[in-house]
Amino acid sequence: MTTATTEPKAPKSGRRDDLSFVPELVYFEPNALNYPKGERIFEWVKRQGIPFRMTTSHNRITDLPGDSELEQYKIAKRTLVVGLRKTLKFDTSKPSAEYAIPIATGCMGHCHYCYLQTTLGAKPYIRVYVNIDEIMEAAQRYIDERSPEITRFEAACTSDPVGLEPITGSLRELIEFMGEQKFGRLRFVTKFHHVDSLLDAAHKGHTRIRFSVNSKYVIKHFEPSTSRFEQRIEAAAKVAKAGYPTGFIIAPIIWHEGWEEGYAELLAALDKAMPQDARHDLTFELIQHRFTKTAKNVIERRYPKTKLEMDMEKRKYKWGRWGQGKYVYPDEQAHALRMFISERIFDHFPDSKIEYFT
Ligand code: SF4
Repeated sequence: MTTATTEPKAPKSGRRDDLSFVPELVYFEPNALNYPKGERIFEWVKRQGIPFRMTTSHNRITDLPGDSELEQYKIAKRTLVVGLRKTLKFDTSKPSAEYAIPIATGCMGHCHYCYLQTTLGAKPYIRVYVNIDEIMEAAQRYIDERSPEITRFEAACTSDPVGLEPITGSLRELIEFMGEQKFGRLRFVTKFHHVDSLLDAAHKGHTRIRFSVNSKYVIKHFEPSTSRFEQRIEAAAKVAKAGYPTGFIIAPIIWHEGWEEGYAELLAALDKAMPQDARHDLTFELIQHRFTKTAKNVIERRYPKTKLEMDMEKRKYKWGRWGQGKYVYPDEQAHALRMFISERIFDHFPDSKIEYFT
């Protein structure tokens, strides 16, 4: 249940203060204003003249503007909800980490293939959580339970936190918290370039930042509203120079016309940009494109003109352990993609590590 409050005129442009994401509508849970982060965001929203409303729960936004489902979806992607994370039980996040650490849910990107389309269901709006101290206390308990084993936390399971960092500052807090942890590590992946406020954080090498990169064709056709290819690579070089363990996720790997040139060009561009001393500890994760039947239906509704190939006849069905299976590339194509990209990686970065291909 939500109630309207003062509603200044909506900003015309989504780009101000060098933020690539400025929401067009913001909801606040009243309790969020009792936290310094909530108060700070509230003051910023008022200063920016962004319309805002109050809501009793960040999980029940029922009065989003928009006449059709598609229109509401587009508006939801530019709507920020500021609330408290109540569930402090973390989900597991294999294979890249032990736990998912929840600091935000939802994303302003419009990647056609994004799995949040199905996992977030009817709630595609962007939620940020202001009780970061409680979230860090919960993380501390998970670390202590497993000590002296290392516990890794993934901060990008349900969102792209770098795109939201200029508004929340939460990643910097998490990075510095993890810097103090002998047995805790943080990692996250991003398609955004807003890393400047993280460069001088006391990370102590305990946070690995990975950039999601792809061929120019994939970025151009399937990743609207994210940072450009060059911006991501420039940001990767910056964090590597700041001493962060760095990595790249090439995902989703898509079989498209000219894919060999596209992925060869990508690896050559990374080679040109990455500083020499960051190369001994560089990781790559490779994920081929996959989709479920449900995802295909949602994607075709939300991006009716997409060029994303989702022809089940051309794919191999892979049974899912929990629930419905996925459509991946047939073995021969998957093998060709894997071999070609792995060879380019080792040509350009012989000391790097490919963590997995899936
Ligand atoms: S940037 Fe990541 S989280 Fe955001 S829409 Fe794209 S794939 Fe999804």
